[in-house]
Amino acid sequence: MPHVIFDLCIRDGACAEVCPVECIVPGQPEEEWPWFYIDPDTCIDCGACQPECPVDAIRPEEELGTEFPEYVGATQKNADFFKIGPGYAAKG
Ligand code: SF4
Ligand code: SF4
Repeated sequence: MPHVIFDLCIRDGACAEVCPVECIVPGQPEEEWPWFYIDPDTCIDCGACQPECPVDAIRPEEELGTEFPEYVGATQKNADFFKIGPGYAAKG
């Protein structure tokens, strides 16, 4: 299961810099997609991004459900960004 970014994200980009498969993309337009998002189909679950986040806004999908149940909808949002949102096109 992939890692997931959720509501606490402050968009500093630290996670995207370390992802070995470059599957973390800033949400655009920001009003509609306010966080960075992880492509669940490409994430290899290496965990490199999680310790880089200054606000603890990245968790493995399974942990998100148990430790942050109020944010469980974030899993769908990360996937949606790449399916119905701009996805990799937002990288510019
Ligand atoms: S867990 Fe690894 S592959 Fe997945 S988004 Fe984080 S750095 Fe990228
Ligand atoms: S490191 Fe954390 S706060 Fe920064 S863009 Fe990534 S998820 Fe958002």
